[in-house]
Amino acid sequence: MAEVKNKEARIGVFLCHCGTNIAGTIDIEAVKEYAKTIPNVVVADNYAYMCSTPGQNKIADAIKEHDLTGVVVAACTPRLHEPTFRNATAAGGLNPFRFEMANIRDQNSWVHMHQPEEATDKAKDAVRIAVAKASLLEDLVPKSVPVEKTAMVVGGGVGGMQAALDLANAGIKTYLIEKSPTIGGRMSQLDKTFPTLDCSQCILTPKMVDVYRNENIELLTYTEVEAVEGYIGNFDVTLRKKARGILTPAEAEARGIVGGGCTGCGDCATVCPVIKPNPFELGMAPRKAVYIYHPQVSPLIYTIDFDACVKCGLCVEACGEKKAVDLESKDEFMTVKIGTVILALGYDIYPIEKKFEWGYKNYDNVITSLEFERLICASGPTGGHLIRPSDGETPKKIAFVLCAGSRDNTSTGKPYCSRFCCMYSLKHAHQIIEKIPGAVPYIFYMDIRSFGKMYEEFYYRIQNEGAKFIRGRVANITEDPVTKNLHVNAEDTLLGRPVDMEVDMVVLAAATQPSAETEKTRRLFGVSCSQDGWLLEAHPKLNPCGTTTAGVYLAGVCQGPKDIPDTVAQAEGAASAASIPIHRGEVELEPYFAQCIEEKCAGCGLCVNQCPYSALSLVEKDGRKVMQVTEAKCKGCGTCGGFCPGGAIWMQHFATPQIVAQIDAFLLGGEQ
Ligand SMILES: Cc1cc2nc3c(=O)[nH]c(=O)nc-3n(C[C@H](O)[C@H](O)[C@H](O)COP(=O)(O)OP(=O)(O)OC[C@H]3O[C@@H](n4cnc5c(N)ncnc54)[C@H](O)[C@@H]3O)c2cc1C
Ligand code: SF4
Ligand code: SF4
Repeated sequence: MAEVKNKEARIGVFLCHCGTNIAGTIDIEAVKEYAKTIPNVVVADNYAYMCSTPGQNKIADAIKEHDLTGVVVAACTPRLHEPTFRNATAAGGLNPFRFEMANIRDQNSWVHMHQPEEATDKAKDAVRIAVAKASLLEDLVPKSVPVEKTAMVVGGGVGGMQAALDLANAGIKTYLIEKSPTIGGRMSQLDKTFPTLDCSQCILTPKMVDVYRNENIELLTYTEVEAVEGYIGNFDVTLRKKARGILTPAEAEARGIVGGGCTGCGDCATVCPVIKPNPFELGMAPRKAVYIYHPQVSPLIYTIDFDACVKCGLCVEACGEKKAVDLESKDEFMTVKIGTVILALGYDIYPIEKKFEWGYKNYDNVITSLEFERLICASGPTGGHLIRPSDGETPKKIAFVLCAGSRDNTSTGKPYCSRFCCMYSLKHAHQIIEKIPGAVPYIFYMDIRSFGKMYEEFYYRIQNEGAKFIRGRVANITEDPVTKNLHVNAEDTLLGRPVDMEVDMVVLAAATQPSAETEKTRRLFGVSCSQDGWLLEAHPKLNPCGTTTAGVYLAGVCQGPKDIPDTVAQAEGAASAASIPIHRGEVELEPYFAQCIEEKCAGCGLCVNQCPYSALSLVEKDGRKVMQVTEAKCKGCGTCGGFCPGGAIWMQHFATPQIVAQIDAFLLGGEQ
């Protein structure tokens, strides 16, 4: 790399047309001619697509030809093309951190499309400001840190299981953390799956067994993440194993109980006197205080619900020589070291009773689609017979209300599309036509979103089977207090007339929302979320599995509603991304660390508690205290730099002189 220290600044400015994205609004020639007049600029050039190979070659060649000390590219965003132009800068022989970007597309031509003159003036400002900073940039060297060869997946739904299996099969030891007593997630509550109508449990159970048996997976169910410290390659994750009250065979053996531990026989549950609603069956079936979620659970270990248990001890007796019951068990904590982590936290169903106009929880025969899944499922509370909760009769006329709480901009709804409810409601329509002779499904919809492979064909199939479609949002539902039948009031927007339809049952395709612990867990791992609470990917198109926190990846619905095929595909992508740093064995960190200017540091320590990433500490040096930065933990956020009363913190790449030069360049219009 060329030596540029102490040289006069010589800056090259490169303007991108981005086709007509930028050049359609901004007068590129005018900005180029202006750039040539900015102090320190020795060359200004433009090209249709600066990110293309010829565009990048222009940059590299100009660095050599004009002996540049810095490069400014005026184009799109650093998020999209910073790495591209850093590489081009390095290809010309300069340190890649001597590159600065001016955003003249997203923050200019796209938002000022109808004000070309003002947009051109704004582009000139942006270029001038970038040149001011580029003139003061320094060589920076990224730090390499070793990566722990272990991964973690948080959430054991189909997304988390797939990610854990892929990592494990790539030879990486993987912790799979699931907060509930079993893996499987929502998919284990489903009967059949669209569009192929495979039995959900039949395709899920073998995967659950694969996870349980995989020797590279350490499965920790009934466990939650309590604390996270560290950074990519070196996360220390503290886990809370909740008191389960039942010993696994391995735990029993560790206590010297030979041949003991839970065998899943269920003798304890048979004698337990406490009866509670079963959350797996959405409260439509009972369970005991000692329980398994459902017959296919993995691992097959009973769990005691200590909030319900009366500690009568009957289960201890029933368990006998296996001695699996421990009524005094307590939460246990453990800390594990991991290199990368995938969050696969899934989703919850929106509490649709908030849309009081549809009467859920007020009218017996208004149910949700997830309740429908359990009622129609052979292993469900009614053995697969769809019945009306009010009288146990088989419904014949059933209304399905789509977008129940989705695509709803009111204060009681969610603005986004939940993406799988159109398709599962078509599946439900098929199931009642198949199972109940003479039954007719009426589907109230806004539009049917059948975008996946073979989905449109499935839609045609359900139409041909005799499902009736009414295009219109349901305004309200009322109940006949005697028959408990329901009146669905809507407008048929195709025929342009109101509808008042009497039906036996209503199924609400309730919206989805981020799962209950998503907020807490994302904060522990420092992951951002979008306005609606779904976890935010690093880039919606180019990095949909990554996050802006290095080493943390996303899989499944926690990133946004998606069906099983898309969940599995994203999980495979996340596993691949999470395995790369582990296989490489080390990662490079952006060198945007805070640095302590020791002669200015008073050792007051005020900055230490300000750092959101715990990257600062006070150390003894030459008989006095000074601040020290753990560079691998520092994210370069600048909090400490802004806070230090003595100005003793130097933010690499965002140093005070660089920022002041930018402000001057803006305010003084280049007159400094
Ligand atoms: C009624 C209904 C019918 C459907 N039918 C179909 C269908 O036919 N076909 C189809 O393709 N899709 C269908 N879907 C969608 C399907 O359910 C999802 O695509 C799938 O379950 C997504 O899997 P996931 O792993 O992302 O999330 P989930 O299945 O929600 O799994 C997430 C897991 O993470 C755990 N977890 C959450 N937070 C934490 C935490 N902080 N720590 C530890 N563990 C945590 C949860 O306990 C859960 O086990 C249907 C959905 C509904 C509501
Ligand atoms: S001790 Fe608790 S779990 Fe065991 S039988 Fe009694 S109530 Fe049920
Ligand atoms: S998937 Fe269909 S029913 Fe669900 S929110 Fe989107 S459009 Fe509405």
